[in-house]
Formats: sequence, structure tokens, C-alpha cells
Amino acid sequence: MKSGEPPRLETNCIFCKILRGEIPCFKVHEDDDILAFMDINPIAPGHVLVIPKHHSKDILVTPAEWVGKAFAGAGRIAQAVQKTLNPDGINVVQANGPGAKQSVFHLHVHVIPRTMDDGLTMNWDLVPGDMDAIGKLAERIAANVE
Ligand code: AMP
Ligand code: ZN
Repeated sequence: MKSGEPPRLETNCIFCKILRGEIPCFKVHEDDDILAFMDINPIAPGHVLVIPKHHSKDILVTPAEWVGKAFAGAGRIAQAVQKTLNPDGINVVQANGPGAKQSVFHLHVHVIPRTMDDGLTMNWDLVPGDMDAIGKLAERIAANVE
């Protein structure tokens, strides 16, 4: 982080806790600006979250440079997901507010592999995945981040 709004984390935010290493995650990639890790309630195998290392609740209040870093990170992770899983498609999704079903109030970008006719919709229920399978996918995707 060389300029602009300095990084800031919150005490009680679950994603800030992951950033501080206070709770574990299946890490896919980390650099000075972002962390990418597996969603533990995946809507599809290979569902990854990308978060900026700056606490800010949504796209409406997050400084543009952090939004840019998060989406640039999502682009890199999408490349790695494509290389790893060769899905039929990928959605990059970001929720803001209750109408969009945002459930964690630290800006995050979902990278979601899609299968033709998988029936996924914009709003989804959170159902825990198989942690073993998620961990293995994290390692495979991590190996393809460039
Ligand atoms: P949203 O509903 O768009 O705010 O997305 C928040 C996402 O964070 C959901 O898909 C959750 O499954 C995911 N999530 C919540 N807690 C964790 C966690 N500890 N590790 C990984 N993913 C999480
Ligand atoms: Zn946070």
C-alpha cells in the first residue's frame, strides 16, 4: 500500500479476524493488498472469496483504490480457477446490503465457477461444504495463481 487510504482492520469483523490469523481459512493467495480464500459454504466447487486488507463494509463506502485491488485480485483468481477447473463459466459477484443478501460486512468478491445449467441464482443459502474437499481445491487453485 503506497498511497491513499491506509489499511485498517476492525476488531469484531470475521474477515478481519481471518486477515489477522485469529481464525483459520483455506488460503488460496495473499499479497500486500488482498487475501483470497475458499468460501466454506460454497455455492459451487471452487468458490473463492477475495478480500482487501482494509475493513470497509461494501462497495458504496470503500475507497476506489481498495475496490480496484479487490477486483484485480478477483481477476487473478478467476484465471487460476479457470486453469484448475476449466468450468463452463465463472461469475464474479459482489453483494451490498440486505436486498443483495450481503452477510459479511467487509467488502468481498465472490469468484464462482459455473457449470452449464447448474441452476444457480443470484441469492443463495449458506450451506457448509465438505471441508476436506474444500481444502484440496484450495491447494489446487493456489498452485495456479500467477
Ligand atoms: P455475502 O453473503 O455475499 O456477504 O458473502 C459472505 C460469504 O462469506 C458467504 O458466502 C459465506 O459462506 C462466507 N463466509 C462466512 N464466514 C466465512 C469463513 N469463516 N470462511 C470462509 N467463508 C466464510
Ligand atoms: Zn473486516
